Amino acid sequence: MAPGREFTGIGVGRGGAVGPVVLAHAAPRVPPGEPGPADPEAAKAKVAEGFADVAASLGAKADAAAEAGIGTLADVLRATAQMAQDPALREEIDALIDAGTGPAHAVEQVVDTFAQMFLSAGGYLAERVTDLRSVRDRVVARVLGVAEPGVPTLTEPSVVVAEDFSPADTATLDLENTAAIVTRLGGPTSHTAIIAAQLGIPCVVRAEGVGSLRDGDVVAVDAAHGTVTKDPSPELREAIARRVEVIAELASDDAPAATADGVPVQLLANIGTADDAARAAPAAVEGVGLFRTEVLFLDRSTAPTVEEQADVYARVLETFGGRKVVIRTLDAGADKPLAFATQPDEDNPALGVRGYRLVRIDASLLDTQLAALAEAHRRSGVAPWVMAPMIATPAEARDFAERARGHGVQTVGVMVEIPAAALRAREILDEVDFVSLGTNDLTQYTMATDRLRGELSDLLDIWQPAVLDLVAATAMAGLEAGKPVGVCGESAGDPVMALVLLGLGVTSLSMSVSATPLVRFALRHHTADQCRLIAQAARSSSDAAQARAAALALVSRDVREALGLS
Ligand code: PEP
Ligand code: MG
Repeated sequence: MAPGREFTGIGVGRGGAVGPVVLAHAAPRVPPGEPGPADPEAAKAKVAEGFADVAASLGAKADAAAEAGIGTLADVLRATAQMAQDPALREEIDALIDAGTGPAHAVEQVVDTFAQMFLSAGGYLAERVTDLRSVRDRVVARVLGVAEPGVPTLTEPSVVVAEDFSPADTATLDLENTAAIVTRLGGPTSHTAIIAAQLGIPCVVRAEGVGSLRDGDVVAVDAAHGTVTKDPSPELREAIARRVEVIAELASDDAPAATADGVPVQLLANIGTADDAARAAPAAVEGVGLFRTEVLFLDRSTAPTVEEQADVYARVLETFGGRKVVIRTLDAGADKPLAFATQPDEDNPALGVRGYRLVRIDASLLDTQLAALAEAHRRSGVAPWVMAPMIATPAEARDFAERARGHGVQTVGVMVEIPAAALRAREILDEVDFVSLGTNDLTQYTMATDRLRGELSDLLDIWQPAVLDLVAATAMAGLEAGKPVGVCGESAGDPVMALVLLGLGVTSLSMSVSATPLVRFALRHHTADQCRLIAQAARSSSDAAQARAAALALVSRDVREALGLS
């Protein structure tokens, strides 16, 4: 491949990085027509070797984790290595191979039967199902002679390149050594983009052609321009290094966010775990605007208990020492699959029983979570705010508010991420204390465009004037009701869009902590009136590209330069 070749995608954040490529591979697919074994003894030996290799590599990782002082990870890895050595598992696989089943199929079939047994047993065994399936994928990869799935161990700061990541993959990234993330699939509001932004890792999604990159290729990832360049020139390396430096300098500004004429703007952090909270708390944010609690339980097969949840929530409330923390109830389903809550066999999961709608089938998940919030309040002495995702009607908002208040939660809100809720925001605000615009889903549902698929990214764009109209309608309802209207979708972290949102009347912006310095800087360079003009210019455009260009034309030069957009 030609040096200097550039791949274009959609950038997440404004930062960048240069480093060697490390390819991450998806779980192997067992070919439907896998032939039966010509030599069953040789096939069984190959499977045995696969299990032995996997057990040995897990054992080595466990030792490394123990040495690094990560005892819990070491224990999990050792338990997983033991599963890979389970004789009962192997005997059943051997029996299937003897009966004429292809070796990869035999591994898949037997492990899936064991996984079902583990799930039915519940408790600790059910918790091990994800690990058992990861053993299956690794052994199948060895049997088929394809690359091992997942992100290989990183030994230096690297650019991890993949087709896409599962939510669980992204949650286990090596933060020390992941300099940047590049995916061929996904979109600007898919989980990979959200988690990368949250972790402050520069990321380019939907980068066409990156499948041709190889391990060790040196690339420059420029999130501000959405580009990945192989063998970057010294000028490009220099430009990226300078921008990273500017962002780091701006991060030292910890004054409360406000417009140039002193109108205060509440800047808040989006988090998904207690570790995120610990990383975000020292930053100049007024609290947490969105705690995506489902992120805590992505690898769980069984529902978390009151006790388990209360522990985490109390820790987060204490970490923020009395600052506002908005905890969102579980948003399971569609792009956030939780094994214990997602509905099987939905043709259209994004339009199905997800988020708040799960109360229709089983209210116990929500009640358990609300009880955990009350318990966390008692333990920490800090009152959490709570909000529900995927609210469509004022009646749902009322029902949620009654349940939450019934558990003693004092400040109750809902997300506005369905167009129906935006259009009826005034009635919804009669039922709750605040609303928060989930612009990721609001864009998906307004434009009828799946947020996980980037092919239609021109439609899946917060700059679409129709989406801005719905944001404006919601903000107006908040002004009328005298109640706060925040934004917690990824749009809040785009410094130019942040000006628009403020101009439309929203009162708080919640984003990944790494996005706050540039948003604070952009706000400080514009008056509230200028923000209104920028918002008007965007809203009166006829499409997304024009809206963005019209807004950008009114943004101060200093800000455009800092963003690398002048
Ligand atoms: C949103 O939809 O904008 C949002 C903040 O929620 P999530 O991205 O978790 O669906
Ligand atoms: Mg959402």
